[in-house]
Amino acid sequence: MKVCPHCNTPNNDEFTFCKACGERLDEDMEISSSYTTEYQQPVAPPLVPNVMPPVAIPQREGYNWCDVCAIIGFICSIIGLFTFAIILLPLGLITSLIGCFGKHLKGLAVAGISISLVATLVRVGMILYENAMIPDWIISGLFW
Ligand SMILES: [Zn+2]
Repeated sequence: MKVCPHCNTPNNDEFTFCKACGERLDEDMEISSSYTTEYQQPVAPPLVPNVMPPVAIPQREGYNWCDVCAIIGFICSIIGLFTFAIILLPLGLITSLIGCFGKHLKGLAVAGISISLVATLVRVGMILYENAMIPDWIISGLFW
């Protein structure tokens, strides 16, 4: 079985020309195979090392997932002040903590942590107070 180098059509071995496109089969087979080995070796290796690092490294130094987490944590903490506190405040706290490992948005991450922490404490305090789970001596101490 010969495969046409021009159109990849399988041809019988006794055929000299491709039955589909008329390309010569014997010589072109060898030429095309030597072409592919010569063609792939110089082109393929430089393509990956030369193009990837200059593009990837500045992006990595710019913003990474920790910075994204800082933004998400801050937004979750803010939204958690108003709604879905039981989900968003812990989520905001965790993502803000991850955001602290980032380089650029530590302030935002710290803000997200403090907002979600304070909001969680207030929430928990309110829930405990509404359910009368805070001892009397703490309440009298708070309002005295
Ligand atoms: Zn052909």
